[in-house]
Amino acid sequence: MNDFIRNEPESADGRDAIILRGRVLTPADELAEASVLIRGDRIAWVRPGREEVPHAVDLSANGDVIAPGLIDLQVNGFKGHDAAGGGEAINAISALLPATGVTGFLPTVISRPLAELGRFGRAVAATEVAGARVLGAHFEGPFLSPAFRGAHEQAHLRTPDARAVRDVVAARPRLVTVAPELPGALRAIETLAEAGIVVAAGHSGASAEQAYAAVDAGVRFGTHLFNAMARWHHREPGLAAALLADPRVTVGLVADGVHLHRTTVEIALLAAGAARTALTTDQTSAAGLPAGRYLLAGMDVESDGRAVARTDGTLAGTVATMDELVRRVASLPSLGLREAVETASLTPARLLGVDGLLGRVESGCAADLVVLDSESRVRLTLVGGRVVYRAAEIDGDGAVSGPAAHASVTQSRVKKSQKASPAKRP
Ligand SMILES: [Zn+2]
Repeated sequence: MNDFIRNEPESADGRDAIILRGRVLTPADELAEASVLIRGDRIAWVRPGREEVPHAVDLSANGDVIAPGLIDLQVNGFKGHDAAGGGEAINAISALLPATGVTGFLPTVISRPLAELGRFGRAVAATEVAGARVLGAHFEGPFLSPAFRGAHEQAHLRTPDARAVRDVVAARPRLVTVAPELPGALRAIETLAEAGIVVAAGHSGASAEQAYAAVDAGVRFGTHLFNAMARWHHREPGLAAALLADPRVTVGLVADGVHLHRTTVEIALLAAGAARTALTTDQTSAAGLPAGRYLLAGMDVESDGRAVARTDGTLAGTVATMDELVRRVASLPSLGLREAVETASLTPARLLGVDGLLGRVESGCAADLVVLDSESRVRLTLVGGRVVYRAAEIDGDGAVSGPAAHASVTQSRVKKSQKASPAKRP
């Protein structure tokens, strides 16, 4: 199993079982009324109907939807913490993400000098986290097209020569985004894939033919499809259309209402299906906070509360959260909550090769779960059977009752009590 799966408790002994009841999205199937028993760090069983289990702690509420914890392949930062800052920032992000239903993520860094990427890879591998699991590092670059660099700094882009590729492999990222049309890129893709790294295509002007050659070489993901790619012309479909069409590839969609029109999201999902579509937030340290100036891999960026841009106006990531993306996709006319959850859990887990343990509500799988209320808002999040987030409940008189006593990391979406720290600039 993946080296980066951590948080497994030393022993499940002495811990009470937890029972959840409600509509269960497995997410391949939908069970209108079912019960999920959690023992230790695993799901013991999933049974249809409302089961009674003596002594189990019942964390259910009316209207609950029980789904696999959400997995985000592209997290640059969150709530004032810039992932590129290293261990402390990554740990803080891990603690905060469960409030958005996320139980696993790839801390992401955009194009930086190779030595810095090496440090980032080591920090990701070494960081012990208390909340959402760290599933490895995503290097978005540095082998990207200068013509499609978006917010990446030209000075940090590299051609994928053998030495640079060796340095990237040595940094042990889980996912690397590459522009397939660069000289040497196909060889680089083969080398990265042979090293067990998931290779994505992105920030690229590749033609459809170049895209298919890249998939033959080992590309299996499309980073923020349509954004920072050649436009789709019906006679020159380019990278985005080719990745959508190729059954070997999973496509990443930043369905935040800014980066993609909802019709584009719907068409992409109709073409690739939920099994080949992964929602990604591409969120930055501005996500979860008001408009203002923030950091992205050390660069100044500005959030207007809807999107994040560099000072020259280039889009530079999002303020989106995974639960918000799930709600947006679930509201599309041809889709529903089950499909939306699949794109944010099982599909990214499968891409990373961890779907034997993560991304499923099935017996034997890790008890990484999100419980949504009747409006698809996050009510409860568990990682390895531990409650890592519990939304405060509002009593009949409007009083807010506190989070669960045994929650090791809690935030309240009612109280909005967190204080953001570090990366926000004065
Ligand atoms: Zn990008």
